Amino acid sequence: MQDFLHQLSHLISWKITLVGIALFLIRVVILTALENLNPAHVVEYRKVLPRDFLVALVFFFFVLPAADFLDRRIVYQPSLPEWISEWPLALRILLYLVLADFGHYWVHRWLHTPMLWPSHRWHHSPTYMYWLAGTRGSVIQQALVNIPYIVSAAFVEVAPWWLAWAILLKNVAQNDFMHINLWWGHRWLEWIIVTPRYHHIHHSVDPAHFRGNLAALFPVWDHLFGTFIDPDKVSRNLVFGTGESIAPIRLAIGI
Ligand SMILES: [Zn+2]
Ligand SMILES: [Zn+2]
Repeated sequence: MQDFLHQLSHLISWKITLVGIALFLIRVVILTALENLNPAHVVEYRKVLPRDFLVALVFFFFVLPAADFLDRRIVYQPSLPEWISEWPLALRILLYLVLADFGHYWVHRWLHTPMLWPSHRWHHSPTYMYWLAGTRGSVIQQALVNIPYIVSAAFVEVAPWWLAWAILLKNVAQNDFMHINLWWGHRWLEWIIVTPRYHHIHHSVDPAHFRGNLAALFPVWDHLFGTFIDPDKVSRNLVFGTGESIAPIRLAIGI
């Protein structure tokens, strides 16, 4: 427990808090303005933003450290041979991204099985979609999703100081982009990267979409493993949520 409190106090350091607040304000202004240009769905920002801001705070100051605390006890990070650390950094970053995303795909698939669905339905609970709607994650979900990233990080063990920050920013940007309130995407692009409309389909309440478009960054996994739903063949008038009525506290805890 002391270990957990130590991590928490580290996270609450004023430097990180200031960077976090500045980053959050930039996202509010830029992303909300972008969504207002051509929103995919009607979102009551005044109602949802303050609530999701609280969710984001809980996620950052409790869910992430708690998931990290669990992962430190259950995940083994392999140490790769030294000659691998001499490979070009760009190649090692690419290997990290591909392997971590491959693992993320399978963890996500697993989260949609009856056994683990309770830990994931918090993420699927919003009945609206916009850039901050994807912040919901239970501790169990986050601890499981972290595993492939921790294992794959062995490839970037030897790296300049800025890489950790770049990965953190990439994760925030990726999550914002997947959920942003724009029906944006194109078939050719959806062979390379997950677009907003691609991930919106995954949040649809329609049972036909429940196990579709599970990829987080590279859609190739959906194409390879039979979970691809073509966004060109889906109406943009989606209804979001789980269709279940579960007490919010149970949703957030993931039980
Ligand atoms: Zn899901
Ligand atoms: Zn999502």
